[in-house]
Parts: sequence; C-alpha cells; structure tokens
Amino acid sequence: MSERRALVAANWKMNGSRAANDAWLTEFAAGSDGITCEVVVCSPYVYVPQLRDRLAADHVGAQDVSANLAGAFTGDVSAEMLRDVGCGWVIVGHSERRQWHHETDEMVALKTERALQAGLRPLVCVGETLQQREAGQPLAVLSSQLAAILQRVGADGLLRGGLAYEPVWAIGTGRTATPQQTQEVHAALRAQVHQGAPGPANALRIVYGGSVKPGNAPELFAQPDIDGGLIGGASLVAADFVAICRATTV
Ligand code: PEP
Repeated sequence: MSERRALVAANWKMNGSRAANDAWLTEFAAGSDGITCEVVVCSPYVYVPQLRDRLAADHVGAQDVSANLAGAFTGDVSAEMLRDVGCGWVIVGHSERRQWHHETDEMVALKTERALQAGLRPLVCVGETLQQREAGQPLAVLSSQLAAILQRVGADGLLRGGLAYEPVWAIGTGRTATPQQTQEVHAALRAQVHQGAPGPANALRIVYGGSVKPGNAPELFAQPDIDGGLIGGASLVAADFVAICRATTV
C-alpha cells in the first residue's frame, strides 16, 4: 500500500435479489464505521437504483456498459443511462465479459471512453489466462491490453477510474496470485503508464482481483503497488467484504 487512497470494489456478478441486497446493505452500513478506503459496490444493472437509494453515487457501480451511445442495440445499457440513474462507477473489460461476450481490447477501450464521456469512473480490468502465464507471456499479454486502453483514453483518462489486475486463473477458483507475483505485475503495469505519464502513473490505483478473502487480503494489500481489490465471491458476504476493506489499513 502507498499514499494512494485504497480502493475496494465489490463485484456481485449475477447474484442478488432485492431482499438479499437490502440485508447486505444493512449489514455493511452497521459494520463499516471507520473504514478508510474508497468503497464501490457493483451490482447487476437492475439493482443499481436500489444501491443508489442507500449509497452515494461515488459508491455505486455497474458491471458493464455498452460501447454504443444509443439506438438499436437491444439489451445494451449506455453510459449516459447509468449516469442518469445515479451510478458513479462501472467495471469495464472483466474477463468474464472478454471470455463469454468476446470483448476485444479495442471494445474494452471504447467502453472505457464511453464511460468517461458520460462522467462515470471506469475500473478497467486486465488479466492473463493460465495458458498465457504458463507460456511465460503474462506481461506481454497485459501490456497489450493496457496499451489499447492508454491509446484511447490516455493515462489521465484511466486515472479518473482505476486499473484492476485480475489473472483469469485466479478468479473464482480459490487460487490466488501470490503477493510477490501480484506486486511484480502491478509494478510492471505502473511502469508502462509511467513511460508516457509519470504523474498519473504515480497516482493511479491498481487493484488486484482473484480469490481475495479476509485471510489473504492483508498480505496482498501490504505490497507497495497493490492499491486495493476487486472482490467477487467474498463480496457476497457483507462481513467478509467489510473485513477485506479493513485490511487496507492494517
Ligand atoms: C471478480 O469477479 O472480479 C473476482 C475477482 O472474483 P473472485 O474474487 O471470486 O475471484
């Protein structure tokens, strides 16, 4: 951790119900006193207004956004619409979107731009597959994913949100990248941003996602370039999410 304010985001994925969300929000509110990191909760689209009833816009996020502005794109939700219902953040380029919805680096970059144009803060995900890591290519893969984003929105654009390193092999698998492996990747990503933009690179929050739990969060967050987490499975239990948020300050 560094002087950058930590960011911890919950990715509920396709989970939740009005009743379950209500209970989560109540438990979170009761347990969140003294949390110093920035907290964002990213729900399925339909629950964004429910989140917004209970949280300020700065704490409310969606999990995806359309690359299109408006019109004949059945099922899409635009960045302007998210802003209109009081959403402040959006996850872009999650590996599940890249894998199941065939999102390319260019599409992810365009979505990032759409989010920024609408005043949303994008949390942009990059990550390598197990095959890519085993082939010794993680940094090359990550570097080209990041380059596509920087080319479209620049370091200043990315800085308005944040970057999430999420190794695909660690998401929802119980396998976590070691703190050392993660630190090495985060430092390399920051160095890449630094090449063109030293100021934004130093201020950019780079969070880690991939089977973060209350037990492994403190060691991960103790690394100098790990500025918080994007939390999937463990974010569904409010008490675990609170514990992970607290781990940014130990
Ligand atoms: C995620 O969904 O972004 C994620 C990191 O999931 P998990 O924490 O379950 O690995």
